[in-house]
Amino acid sequence: MANPSQYLETISLDLHHLTQLFGVPDRLVEDSTFTYTMEEREGQYVCTFRGKGKEARLAVPVPSHPEERLRELHRKRACRRLCRQTFYSLLRDVTGIHPPWGSMTGIRPTHLFYEALEAGMSMEEAGSHLVEEFDILPGKAALLRETVASQQLLPPPADGFADVYIGIPFCTTRCTYCSFSSGEIGDGRLVEPYLRALFSEMEAGAALLRDTGKQLRALYIGGGTPTSLSEKQFIRLLDETMRCFPGASEYTVEAGRPDTLSAGKLEEIRAHGIGRISINPQTMNDETLRLIGRAHTARQVVEAYAMARDAGIGHINMDVIAGLPGEDLDSFRRTMDAALALRPKSLTVHTLAIKRTSRLQVENWQLPEGSVASDMVDMGRETASRLGMHPYYLYRQKYMAGNLENVGYAIPGHACLYNVDIMEENTHILAFGAGGISKRVFPEEGHIERQPNVSNIAVYLERHEEMAMRKRALFLGQLSTQT
Ligand code: SF4
Repeated sequence: MANPSQYLETISLDLHHLTQLFGVPDRLVEDSTFTYTMEEREGQYVCTFRGKGKEARLAVPVPSHPEERLRELHRKRACRRLCRQTFYSLLRDVTGIHPPWGSMTGIRPTHLFYEALEAGMSMEEAGSHLVEEFDILPGKAALLRETVASQQLLPPPADGFADVYIGIPFCTTRCTYCSFSSGEIGDGRLVEPYLRALFSEMEAGAALLRDTGKQLRALYIGGGTPTSLSEKQFIRLLDETMRCFPGASEYTVEAGRPDTLSAGKLEEIRAHGIGRISINPQTMNDETLRLIGRAHTARQVVEAYAMARDAGIGHINMDVIAGLPGEDLDSFRRTMDAALALRPKSLTVHTLAIKRTSRLQVENWQLPEGSVASDMVDMGRETASRLGMHPYYLYRQKYMAGNLENVGYAIPGHACLYNVDIMEENTHILAFGAGGISKRVFPEEGHIERQPNVSNIAVYLERHEEMAMRKRALFLGQLSTQT
C-alpha cells in the first residue's frame, strides 16, 4: 500500500498560504505548533491536524482509476486537498475567523465554479457546492454565479483565436502601491529606443499571427501608462498597432492617469477605431492621491472624462481601489459618489494589496481592517448595481485587505473581453514589450505554456529579437529547441 504522505512532500507552501487567510504567523507552522498525519485506513485517506490544544480530522475515499498514471494523479490531488481542508478546519477553530473565500487560496475562484459546471452541476448547485466544499460565504458564491453568467454572454473562447497585449512600461510618477516593473518616464530618453524595439517585435508578431492561422480576438495596450508618451509618439504607437494588428473585435487603451491625456490624444484614439479606454482615478480624494504618489487631482479626472466624451469615445472604464492608506468608509463613499456622477460604462473595484516590491511595503503601511475593506467592497458592488452594471470578471491576490477580491463590473454589452480572457486563461495571448507574458493554451490537455518577455527595459532593448523568436517557438511548437 502506498504511503499517502509521499503526496505531501511539497505541501508546506500551500499551508503557509492558508495561514495568511487567518493572519497566523508563518513561524507557527515552521516551529511545529501545528502537526499533522496522513494515513490510509479502510479505503479512506484520513488527515489529522493538531495544534493550540485542538484537533481536526477529515477523511475522503481513496480514488481509484484503471489507468495507473491517472490513479496516481487523482490520489495525489485528493491527499493534498484533504490536507489543506483539514488544516483550514483547525485554523478556523483556533482563530474563530471565517475567511470570505473559505479555504480557497488561488487567484481565480471562477475556475472552481467552471469545474463544478463541467461536472454536470447547475449554476445554483455549483454555488452551493463551493459553499460546502470550500466554506466560502454564500454572498461570494452569488458573486461567482453572476460573474460566470455574464461571461457566458460573451463570444466563447476558441483555439482559432488569439489576443494581443502591447505593453508601454512608463508612467509619469510611480504609485506607492505599484508592484509592476514600469519605470518613471523621467526625461523620456528611453522612450524612442523602446518604441523602435517594440515595433520590431510587433512586426515579427504580426507575421507569427499569420503563420499560426489564428484570428485576432481582443487587443489591449497597457503598461504602465501608454498615454504618458508624447502626442507624436502615441500616434506612432497607434499607427503601428493598427498596421500590425487590424480587425480585432475589441481594442482598449489604458489611459490611466488623467494628467497624461489631451484632446489630441483622445481624438487619435477615436480616429484609430479604439472603442474602450480606461481613466482611473483610484480615489477621488486629493489628499489620498498625493499620499499614493499620483500627480493629479480629482478635478483632473472629471475634466478627462468630459474631454474623452467630447472626443466621442463610447466606453470609458474606471478603476478604483478600496482600502487605500488613510481612507475610511466616508472617503470611499466620496469616490463612489463621483463614479455615480461620471457614469463610466464599466467599473473595476480593486481591494488594496500590499505587494513585497511596493513602496507601501517598504514604508511599512498596514492594510485596513478586514471589516472596513469588506464594507467598501460591498459599497463598490452596490454602486455598480446602481449604475446598471453586473460583475463580469473577478480575481484575488496575495496580501489583500480582508482576503477579499477584485471585481470588474460592466453595463450589459460592455464587458471587456480581454479582461475575461486574461483571467480565465482559456485564450492564446501574444504579448509584446518589456514584461509582457505570452501564453499558449492547450485546451485538450488543460495545460498552458508561458513565455515571459524580460521586464527590465534596458535588457529588453538588447534582447527584443530573442523575445520575438521565443514567441515564435512557443506558438509554432519548437520551444524545446530554445535555450
Ligand atoms: S499607473 Fe499603474 S503601472 Fe503606473 S505606477 Fe501606478 S500602478 Fe504602477
